[in-house]
Amino acid sequence: QTIGAFFDAMAARHPQREALVSVHQGRRYTYAALAAEVDRLASALLGLGLQPGDRIGIWSHNNVEWVLMQLATAKVGLVLVNINPAYRTAELEYALNKVGCKALVSMATFKTSDYLGMLRELAPEVATCAPGALQSARLPALRTVAWIDVAGEGTEQPGMQRFSALLASGQVGDPRVAQAAAGLTANDPINIQFTSGTTGFPKGATLTHRNILNNGFFIGECMKLTPDDRLCIPVPLYHCFGMVLGNLACFTHGSTIVYPSDAFDPLAVLQTVQAEKCTGLHGVPTMFIAELDHPRFKEFDLHTLRTGIMAGSPCPVEVMKRVQADMHMGEVTIAYGMTETSPVSCQSSTDTPLDKRVSTVGLVQPHLEVKIVNPETGATVPRGERGEFCTKGYSVMHGYWGDPAKTQEAIDADGWMHTGDLATMDDEGYVNIVGRIKDMVIRGGENIYPREIEEFLYRMPQVQDVQVVGVPDQKYGEELCAWVIVKPGQSLDEDAVRAFCKGQIAHYKVPRYIRFVDAFPMTVTGKIQKFKIRDAMKDQLG
Ligand code: ATP
Ligand code: MG
Repeated sequence: QTIGAFFDAMAARHPQREALVSVHQGRRYTYAALAAEVDRLASALLGLGLQPGDRIGIWSHNNVEWVLMQLATAKVGLVLVNINPAYRTAELEYALNKVGCKALVSMATFKTSDYLGMLRELAPEVATCAPGALQSARLPALRTVAWIDVAGEGTEQPGMQRFSALLASGQVGDPRVAQAAAGLTANDPINIQFTSGTTGFPKGATLTHRNILNNGFFIGECMKLTPDDRLCIPVPLYHCFGMVLGNLACFTHGSTIVYPSDAFDPLAVLQTVQAEKCTGLHGVPTMFIAELDHPRFKEFDLHTLRTGIMAGSPCPVEVMKRVQADMHMGEVTIAYGMTETSPVSCQSSTDTPLDKRVSTVGLVQPHLEVKIVNPETGATVPRGERGEFCTKGYSVMHGYWGDPAKTQEAIDADGWMHTGDLATMDDEGYVNIVGRIKDMVIRGGENIYPREIEEFLYRMPQVQDVQVVGVPDQKYGEELCAWVIVKPGQSLDEDAVRAFCKGQIAHYKVPRYIRFVDAFPMTVTGKIQKFKIRDAMKDQLG
């Protein structure tokens, strides 16, 4: 099935159920109303002269327009290209040209960022071209730019179209939409998502209806979503966390999507969960930490919460416990996956015993195959031993857009996706993620997994967050380095950290370098870019 067909069937089944609430925009849609807007936008997009298979970018934080774009492009087979709102001109130029976007939908401004200004810098021709007829030297494929007027008061922009005007140009029930939809198959590419760029340059993963629709459905099954559920989604939509674990998990179960804010704001999350009586909440660990540690946390009634997913990076056990106890999310689960696998490969269900839900990433999702192999030999390792997590099945991406060589490196001839993540699987099938192969530290021949040291240091009551990396060392090859964020109002020094480690962990695991910092270098998805910590240390240590 295609995403469009699935969504229309859901809207026919639950027309009056609430589908979407955008708190920061003050807008609400039933399934029927949303389906009509999607149909209208699909017609408008075809009206721009776009054909199934053409790429269209969206460069925006979370809002209603994002969802309309996700569903309308899927309905007529356009390939939606998710562009990170943190991208600036050079990255935007790279992304748009890499995949040949013919159209782009963008925010006008956000806080101090002038998105349309950045576009004009890249394509000054826009001022003199008619809307839809752009000819730009640096963005040769791009014809149309539409801008989202979130506040409803923006001024006209030469050569660019207001999103609301674009939408109004379409008609509900346009026969061209039905015709385009009839020509689609579930294996058509529908989406290009760039990876987070945690380990380097983001890669564009090409995903199909079959990839993400199925994954969204099974994620919702594990959470036992029903039409009575209301899921608060503070994670970005331009990343699969928001788009698949959020939007698609909800739509495939008739649940309600709730956006508290455009970009992440912990206070807006707390207010929204209370006001909208949300039953679920997603987040990366750093988001949950920011919510739990918010000075006004105790003011909010969060008793409606039941479920949610923590994912994207290692989820400290201590944080999981606080989420269960203080946010009442007794059924919260950890999920593990990557953009290239649509994204989720492992997740516990709400039935999973508590200790497993807190301490592992759960079981392998239905209909997927997984093996854990020795990265050097490729041989499957015995249960309980560490190896590279490899997966095969419906969720594996079509490939990296326009990069067959990279695709071949990642997906072997037998269809196994090599994730670059180290994992173990116990006798009952529960998977643990040990870390990335690239992050493993080898000190004097000893393999050290930074995650283990991070979990240990996290137990210090003064520690808010901690990251451990390896830095080059003449004597040992690599030495450990910890970056620590101390909780507000607390103090901590190197000696105290060393004293805490003494006798508790092996001497070679005690970080040689300890630095106290205010923040970590992060992707906008809230993931910590360890390579930048390593680079900063290399500069410091010379
Ligand atoms: P890039 O590939 O561009 O360097 P990235 O790998 O962070 O960035 P994503 O596809 O967004 O891009 O993230 C997938 C990765 O996130 C996984 O490969 C894994 O390393 C990490 N990850 C995801 N979920 C978990 C989890 N529950 N526990 C530990 N790590 C996780
Ligand atoms: Mg990756």
